[in-house]
Amino acid sequence: MGKPIVITLDGTSASGKSTNAKRVAKALGYSYVDTGAMYRSLAWYCLNKEVDIDDEKAIASMCRSWKTELKNEEGHIRLYIDGYFPSKEIRTAKTSAVTPLVAAVPSVRKWMKAKQRECIEFGNLVMEGRDIGSNVFPDSDFKFYLDASLDERLKRRVADGVNENLAARDKQDSQRSTAPLVIPLGAIVINNSDMTAEETSALIIKEVRTKLGEA
Ligand code: C5P
Repeated sequence: MGKPIVITLDGTSASGKSTNAKRVAKALGYSYVDTGAMYRSLAWYCLNKEVDIDDEKAIASMCRSWKTELKNEEGHIRLYIDGYFPSKEIRTAKTSAVTPLVAAVPSVRKWMKAKQRECIEFGNLVMEGRDIGSNVFPDSDFKFYLDASLDERLKRRVADGVNENLAARDKQDSQRSTAPLVIPLGAIVINNSDMTAEETSALIIKEVRTKLGEA
């Protein structure tokens, strides 16, 4: 058996990464990894432990000591913390706002990269995030970068019942010094402002199948 295939899906907030990553993973029978959920989980954990979010050393220490385990649940790879996956807690406005701060800490990114690379134990993957094609799996032959206009992305968030400052989060993610959000070298860029999720995922699947020689 060859090396597992990793399809990387990076992009701005609310550009459709999760929806499309799940659709592509399902269509191809690959496992899905939401790396944003991992960073959100650490932010939630730090908030719970009442860590000062501006204290990089304290955040780094939490990341060194938390007890985690990767589990594959019906094709979704999740990071459990002390035997618990905080699915709802990591989606609150408070957690969303502090996550980029936690994600900017260099030792946190190093820890996350190693953990995310461990996921290939589970076989072929569709992994979504901000630095997957540029930093976590830079050698992947299947890189995609999603974007959409800010107006469209705000509409999508509001439709999900979430009101947040997406532009501020994108700026924080693009300007941090360690592994910022960039278009990875060799990535296919898809601006899906005027595309449905069906169209976006169909395009990704077609590109992957063509490269695999299955088209
Ligand atoms: O994708 P999601 O919106 O859940 O990501 C939450 C936050 O986690 C991002 O705004 C970013 O700060 C951080 N993140 C990251 N690198 C990744 C995935 C997410 O820095 N690969």
